[in-house]
Amino acid sequence: MENVNWSDLSFGYMKTDYNVRCCYRNGKWGELEVSSSEIINIHMAATCLHYGQEAFEGLKAFRGKDGKIRVFRMDENAKRMQSSSRGIMMAELPVEIFEEAVRKVVKLNERFIPPYESGSSLYIRPLLIGTGAQVGVKPADEYLFVVFVTPVGPYFKGGFKTSPVCIMRNYDRAAPHGTGTIKVGGNYAASMVAGDKARKGGYAAVLYLDPKEKKYIDECGPANFFGIRGNSYITPASLSILPSITNMSLIQIAQDMGLTVERRPVPIEELSTFDEAAECGTAAVIAPISQIDDLDENKSYVYSKEGNPGPICERLYNKLRGIQYGDEPDVHGWVRIIE
Ligand SMILES: *Cc1c(COP(=O)(O)O)cnc(C)c1O
Repeated sequence: MENVNWSDLSFGYMKTDYNVRCCYRNGKWGELEVSSSEIINIHMAATCLHYGQEAFEGLKAFRGKDGKIRVFRMDENAKRMQSSSRGIMMAELPVEIFEEAVRKVVKLNERFIPPYESGSSLYIRPLLIGTGAQVGVKPADEYLFVVFVTPVGPYFKGGFKTSPVCIMRNYDRAAPHGTGTIKVGGNYAASMVAGDKARKGGYAAVLYLDPKEKKYIDECGPANFFGIRGNSYITPASLSILPSITNMSLIQIAQDMGLTVERRPVPIEELSTFDEAAECGTAAVIAPISQIDDLDENKSYVYSKEGNPGPICERLYNKLRGIQYGDEPDVHGWVRIIE
């Protein structure tokens, strides 16, 4: 592709050649279909529009130094979308169809996969929506699964850097026994007011507390949280956070490096004891935190003054990115090569 500055892409939408679709009707999933249209045509009473029957996923394909295309842990995304489907009563898509759709859409849009040197990647967005018409509050009888892709730039354009986050107790992204553990659009709608307020205050994200007691750390709007203390990787266990595949992978890598992993409720007071703190998710892998400002208590927890990430964050980041791009051995079998 000419005229594309691959290193300068943002995290935004760029039109690609094809998307892949699959419909659920009469109790079963149909064949995968390839479309070159960006438009979906649905009934105005579709449940995704009225009652929030919508779940999505996010994963990436990477071009290696060897020219091969690698997709990271797509089986986990497939299983998580099934869990989201159960959570809001949508039809579950079999893992094999999910993986086949991802392979197909990546292959068909191969010319949009950024070159290795750019540090960019191809973002893959699977989406599942209730398309059947209902006016009463009931699950739809028809569903549409769509996967589209769009090239995205490196998250850290000026190098791996820290950013600040804030705590605001007046906002929750999910309820204590609500939909926090599944990847549904409703959680994102619920986080927009707080997210906007945080950005206007100069913060990269909101760090949410547990919605029931506001005593424990939950996660950031679109990313999990972890702290490093000495030789320990500490990440919250909670009934209202989304199980991040990046976090799951970092936990494994941390153990491989000889760190102790603690996954348990993390009281807010513990923030003052961490040497490093970070957000983690597919978009950035790791977004290290410079400081956490508790805006209600007028308190700050500072981890970095010059914008430099801590040494453990840096090692974890390099290792996981290395596996994704094929520079590091894939000892856990996380990567699928798209032929
Ligand atoms: C998607 C998401 C994450 C990150 O998950 P990954 O699988 O690592 O990309 C974290 N928190 C929330 C709320 C999310 O929706």
